[in-house]
Amino acid sequence: MKISLFTKTSLFRIQNIRIRLAPRFMIPLLAFLCINILTSDLDRRHQKTTLDKKVDQISAIILPYVVDKEIDILKAIGKSEVERNAQLRSIYIHLVGINQSIAINSTPRVNLPATGQVTYQSTTNLVNQGLKVADLKIKFSLTSPTNNLVRINILALIAIFAYFLIKKQINSTLIAEKRKIASLGLHLALEASSDGWWEINKSENKALVSKKLCNLLSIKHNDKHKTIVELNANWWINYFEQSYDLIKFLCLQNASITHKEVKILPEKGKKLHHISIKRVKILGNKYIKDTIVFMLTNVSEEVANRSRIEDMAYTDNLTKLSNRVSFELELEKLSAEKNRHQYRYSLLMLDIDNFKLLNDINGHIIGDQFLREISNRLRLILRPMDFIARIGGDEFVIIARFPNSNDEDIMRRSLAIGEKIRKAISKPFLVDDLALQYNCSIGICIDKDQSDSPLSILDNADLALYDAKDKGRNKVSFFKDSMKDVVSRRASLKEMISEALNKKTIYIHYQPIFDISLKKRGQQKLQIVGYEALFRCDHINASPGQIIKTAERTGQIDQVTEAVIDAIGNDIKYNKIRLISTQKISINVSAVEILNPNFSKQLLDRLAQNNINNDQICIEVTETAFISNIELAKRNIALLRLENIQVAMDDFGTGYASIQTLRNIKFDQIKIDQSYIQGPMNDINLALIKSLIWTARAINVDLVAEGIETEEQLNTLSSLGCTLGQGFFLDQFDERNMEAKTPLDKHF
Ligand code: GH3
Ligand code: MG
Repeated sequence: MKISLFTKTSLFRIQNIRIRLAPRFMIPLLAFLCINILTSDLDRRHQKTTLDKKVDQISAIILPYVVDKEIDILKAIGKSEVERNAQLRSIYIHLVGINQSIAINSTPRVNLPATGQVTYQSTTNLVNQGLKVADLKIKFSLTSPTNNLVRINILALIAIFAYFLIKKQINSTLIAEKRKIASLGLHLALEASSDGWWEINKSENKALVSKKLCNLLSIKHNDKHKTIVELNANWWINYFEQSYDLIKFLCLQNASITHKEVKILPEKGKKLHHISIKRVKILGNKYIKDTIVFMLTNVSEEVANRSRIEDMAYTDNLTKLSNRVSFELELEKLSAEKNRHQYRYSLLMLDIDNFKLLNDINGHIIGDQFLREISNRLRLILRPMDFIARIGGDEFVIIARFPNSNDEDIMRRSLAIGEKIRKAISKPFLVDDLALQYNCSIGICIDKDQSDSPLSILDNADLALYDAKDKGRNKVSFFKDSMKDVVSRRASLKEMISEALNKKTIYIHYQPIFDISLKKRGQQKLQIVGYEALFRCDHINASPGQIIKTAERTGQIDQVTEAVIDAIGNDIKYNKIRLISTQKISINVSAVEILNPNFSKQLLDRLAQNNINNDQICIEVTETAFISNIELAKRNIALLRLENIQVAMDDFGTGYASIQTLRNIKFDQIKIDQSYIQGPMNDINLALIKSLIWTARAINVDLVAEGIETEEQLNTLSSLGCTLGQGFFLDQFDERNMEAKTPLDKHF
């Protein structure tokens, strides 16, 4: 056995097995060994003296009993003697032959029985060997495992044990005291640096919870007067939103995580909603090293701010719908999941018709409110599973999911949703006591029309939306591959219009308007009452109608009208057109313009800039322009008429609200749509023309028949009572002999 002492532990090596002992075990062990050595030595010495005495006594007694042949030991010692020395358990009899060549100095040990006799037999042999018994000296060497040693050892052990018990008791009292002091310091520090805290001890199933925390979470407890409350270690279960991570953090004390953000259960979180819990490891103080502290910070505001920022990133601030970022993420998610899930989807893109006007008339605040109302209505009519987002000014997108089905079925269902939305939006909205009624156009693309990029479906839905707008708005259109050409065509047209406007390559074709009334027909020459200014540009490979439509869509229409007025001003200035006082020039104005609240002012300013007299101008507005906002159109028209500008209703008879418009707005002229003139002159058509002529006469406005291409048409109209007319057939009577390059184009 090899013992080596170390400062911290002692190393024992017993048959190559290493045993480490802490120093606290070494002290009692060494003490035990010392006591043992000392006591056994004392004991041995004590026994020796006792026995020596006894031997003398016994020798004296035994001599008379020495007989020839054998020694009866009990007899020799005396029974009572043995009994008195009950502790003597065995005797060694040393027979020493004196004056003999053979000396026998030891005999086998004889165990003394409690009773009976022990006879020492070998004396005979000694006697037989010629020893004189008288010469024998009997020496008793009595050895005995005395009980004293055992007793002392037990006492020593008890003493050591008692020592340890007492020491442990003292220690634990001391430790408890020191822990209390250390905890107090810790608690004070925690109280100052946290919004609440609780502490657990690894060995105990209880938690010490600060009063601050109790107040924050409204924890019920009975320790009203204490600053720290004792609760069950798992008290938090009823207060925090559970998750496996939280349990791992609080119970298993996963060392890799020291912070955790926790949501307070809604019914408990009146004062706070989110807390951050920090697990604190106590270092450097051995008295509280088994203690784990959880410090709590109220992060409700921080989390709210963070979620606000997140909301801002993914939510449209105005409508609280998803925004474009979130929509693009949804599209990506959809296309990634498409092959995994058995469903199909379509994208509906919605844009409010003439929303700019709403802003212009009512202001942006009402416009914003209107957009909010739109989003509320969309939420209301769509299913919860449908994704709705606002991705631009007045642009909304809807992703509708369907169970897996064929393309026709998906298109049919998507169209039903599109129509439902369109109808719902076209119903009036009450915003700030105003009943606002605006329509919307919708483009739809189904998932089969999506190429590699998830966003391609948006591009396609956008093309379909353009198509819906092109077809007159308030329509639902499906994407078709051919639409891609339309868009690129529109883009190049836009470029060409810009170039023509910049380089001033546009010019005006003046189509005369004649007095075709019967009384005037008798005269040799037809009298010209005015001209319709038709916009032309030879550098653009498109019909004037297409150019105007494109300009309306691309927002270039204002510039086109301005260019037309400039060109007229120029022509008047340089006598390219000569007007007598009764003659007027008609300028076409698009629906977009007449619904612009600033239109009348802009027009008057432009005319003034070009030195054109107001009373020489008539503006022509198609009746469809009045549908979306008759009040605004009425206001603009009234303002212009006040300034001596005449107003004509163009294309009369093609819209749904012709008569209604006439009841609301005062016009100077009505122009019958050419479809009435060029159609077959049968009874029905003639009756219709007659009724239009009568209507105009009844409300005292001039009636102009457009698109007269034959003499027969001219004669019929004259005989029916139509007073004014224009068209290719009549152009030949224009003494200026100006050739219309596109005479049949009715717009410009
Ligand atoms: P169209 O019929 O062709 O759709 O014409 P539109 O007048 O509706 O104009 P368009 O859709 O091209 O443009 C939308 C307009 O919406 C442009 C801008 O004046 C307005 N707008 C954009 N964002 C906001 C917003 O946040 N609030 C309000 N009130 N108006 C907005
Ligand atoms: Mg719009």
